Amino acid sequence: MPGLDTALPLPHEEQLGVALVGLGAYTLNQILPNLPASRRCRLAALVSGNEDKARTVARAYGLGERHVYNYDTFDRIAEDQTVDVVYILLPNTMHRDWTERSFAAGKHVLCEKPMAATVADCEAMIAAGRTADRKLMIGYRAQFDPYNLRAIDLVRGDNRQIGTPRIAVGNHGRMLDLSDSRDGWRAKRDLAGGGSLFDIGIYSLNGVRYLLGEEPTEVTARFMPRSGRSEVEVEEGVAWSMLFPSGAVANCTSSYLIEGVNRLQVQGSEGTVTLDPATKYYVRHLILTRGRTHERIVIPNTNQFAAMFDELAEAIREDREPKASGTEGLRDVRIMEAIYESAEQGRSVSLI
Ligand code: NAD
Repeated sequence: MPGLDTALPLPHEEQLGVALVGLGAYTLNQILPNLPASRRCRLAALVSGNEDKARTVARAYGLGERHVYNYDTFDRIAEDQTVDVVYILLPNTMHRDWTERSFAAGKHVLCEKPMAATVADCEAMIAAGRTADRKLMIGYRAQFDPYNLRAIDLVRGDNRQIGTPRIAVGNHGRMLDLSDSRDGWRAKRDLAGGGSLFDIGIYSLNGVRYLLGEEPTEVTARFMPRSGRSEVEVEEGVAWSMLFPSGAVANCTSSYLIEGVNRLQVQGSEGTVTLDPATKYYVRHLILTRGRTHERIVIPNTNQFAAMFDELAEAIREDREPKASGTEGLRDVRIMEAIYESAEQGRSVSLI
């Protein structure tokens, strides 16, 4: 056996089987190609409203037709012993129902971000998991990304380099393209639940929370100007700041009207850690600045998707809460509700 760059996968029968619900852009372009890099999980079933697409994808990934379900036959997945985990990759407001259906079928749940549209929905999802005695994890892949983990270490870990963290910055932006089917539902309140904040601003929010390692106590927000497109029922931009118990302040923005902004940064008394891009799938740049020195840190062999799947499988095996649990998803939804409340009412909102 030569020295291994990455550990061998577990034998097939020891891996957990994952059913993917929703064959949209994220499932087809990122999850299906990266799932085989997981040591502990493998593809076990597909659930889709489009039978032709589901059959084509199943054939491509060597999955038998009996493991293909549609939205009506889904509940039969309870009898499918090859499926341990249901991964929900549907529009945001569908997350709660599908989580509850999956728990009712006796499966563990991995659910995409944002966890749900409201705090009440998140709480119902957590309660359903407890009743079913199954695990619930939210697809916060960046929390498993070695670049983001190294940034945390530089800010507040054993290798901390920037002194006292004072200011965190989170900026996420992209153009909402209504001619693209994956953005059509994102413009609709009843499917998206919220606007740019729910879709991409959540990376800024979650990012500054894990970089600083503390919870905000107060938020102040304002909406940014809209495009005027009549189809867009949700906010297209919001800027907000958050206070943290240590005295650190975070300044964040989220926008559907700027192209390709993807940044997290923490400025401390002795230096600055910058991730730009911070939360992309395959390219991240990590820079440590101290005085006049700028060090670019490069980490080889990273697959945040595989690391996320492996964490869920380990949590199930060890019967513990996974990192990025339902409680973590709920925290972000609660803060996002407060951000909207602050922007609507023109005043700060306490989170304590
Ligand atoms: P998408 O539009 O490409 O896919 C959505 C899927 O849901 C499609 O297959 C669509 O057919 C299906 N669907 C079922 N009912 C629908 C309805 N009533 N209206 C619209 N579509 C319906 O979207 P996506 O980009 O794949 O996003 C899916 C989920 O994944 C969202 O919750 C999103 O926030 C999340 N996501 C996460 C990441 C990440 O990096 N973690 C990246 C992209 C998307």
